[in-house]
Amino acid sequence: MTNAVLVTSTRLDRISAVLSEAGIDLLLATPSADLLYLAGYAGHSSERPTVFAVSPGQKPVMVLPELEAPRLRGRSDIEIRSYGDGDDPYECMRSFVRDQVAPLTIAVSDQAWASVLLNLQSLFPAARYVPASPLLRQLRMQKSEDELELLHEAGRRADRAFEGIVQLRFSDRTEQQVSDELDRLLREAGLGRADWGPIVASGPDSASPHHVTGNREIREGDAVVLDFGGVLEGYQADITRTVHVGSPETEFVDVYELVLKAQQAGFEASVVGQTAGSVDRAARGVIEQAGFGQNFIHRTGHGLGLDTHEEPYLVGGNDLPLSPGMTFSVEPGVYLLGRFGVRIEDTVAVCDDGPRRFNHATRELQIVS
Ligand code: ZN
Ligand code: ZN
Ligand code: ZN
Repeated sequence: MTNAVLVTSTRLDRISAVLSEAGIDLLLATPSADLLYLAGYAGHSSERPTVFAVSPGQKPVMVLPELEAPRLRGRSDIEIRSYGDGDDPYECMRSFVRDQVAPLTIAVSDQAWASVLLNLQSLFPAARYVPASPLLRQLRMQKSEDELELLHEAGRRADRAFEGIVQLRFSDRTEQQVSDELDRLLREAGLGRADWGPIVASGPDSASPHHVTGNREIREGDAVVLDFGGVLEGYQADITRTVHVGSPETEFVDVYELVLKAQQAGFEASVVGQTAGSVDRAARGVIEQAGFGQNFIHRTGHGLGLDTHEEPYLVGGNDLPLSPGMTFSVEPGVYLLGRFGVRIEDTVAVCDDGPRRFNHATRELQIVS
């Protein structure tokens, strides 16, 4: 058995136990982080559906297009049922249900296409459909040592890209050009491409947290928010640093120091026994006290793993207790509309002996040329 098969068989044993306990007959995962987590196979979303079925006590089944079946050659832990073009893929799925008497309860992964769910509903009209995320959440949130090591290494590689980008010239180049440079540095550091970013937001654009990198020319006096990451064996890096082109005004430095203090407060609150909401409270409290509460217009962070955004979400009112292995971003920001924004983001893991950062790129303000 390969290591990947060993890892997924442990996960499948765990999810089987969770399904039995919850009274779920069938868990269906389509191409998404859920599929990658459960089957060690990323798959590919298209009009030719891929559906992975897990039932307690049965060998899991993968239904997929014939032309993609070679990718799973040698996987004796999974029963492969491929269909040809022109066959009805849902006919293959009829046999998911073996000797079932009572109406089924079927959990479907959150990122399944509506077309898959609608077809399943006509195939098994009496079944009860529930979301898979509450079942998978606990497993996916609590990262194993191997997962933590991959996330940490992904973080180190993103750090290297930041160390590279601050050496380069920003002024008289467009956001897109700087983004392309960051992209190149991330590839050189050995990270695969994420399905977002790198976000480069300069001058007044930096006050827009999800700015779409554009063709604005960066000038002396601009703040530049750089939010970027990449993928290592499926696991994500996500880091933000804000730099300044040339020497900054006092007001910018004050806001920068404030966000830095808020980030540190969020980091320090990321301990076992606290809640996801209390991390948000800790970071937000610092910013509110300085009178910038209304300028921090998003949650403090999001879980990070096989997905860039996953549970736990660090948002006010989330009373989910933090436990060892949880990994999330801590990324407070202050945005002054039309002027500038500052955000500082590190990936942080909750560990028995306290919080651990997976990014070590300097958080001191970097002045670029
Ligand atoms: Zn980010
Ligand atoms: Zn983030
Ligand atoms: Zn480290």
